[in-house]
Amino acid sequence: MSGAALHARGLRPIAELGGSRPHGTRLRYLAGCKCFHCRRANSDYERERQAARLADPTTRVIRVQHAREWNHELLWNLRHVSNIKRSLRESLQEVKP
Ligand SMILES: [Zn+2]
Repeated sequence: MSGAALHARGLRPIAELGGSRPHGTRLRYLAGCKCFHCRRANSDYERERQAARLADPTTRVIRVQHAREWNHELLWNLRHVSNIKRSLRESLQEVKP
């Protein structure tokens, strides 16, 4: 994602976020530091994530898909309600003299 796109979403680039973090943190690793301590922090994180995925394969991906479907349904319902409200308003205007 470009710097402008991040800024538009109220986010800061990873280099800015992680560049000042201490060595031995994953954020510093993501910001570009590949020293032993930062690589170790990233490896630890990836190992824990892998263990979590193996322990419960339904985490993350399914939840995101479910959330998207739910969000899509919610947006559809909101549009549907908006259409009903607009129809009612138009009907009331037709009834008024
Ligand atoms: Zn480092």
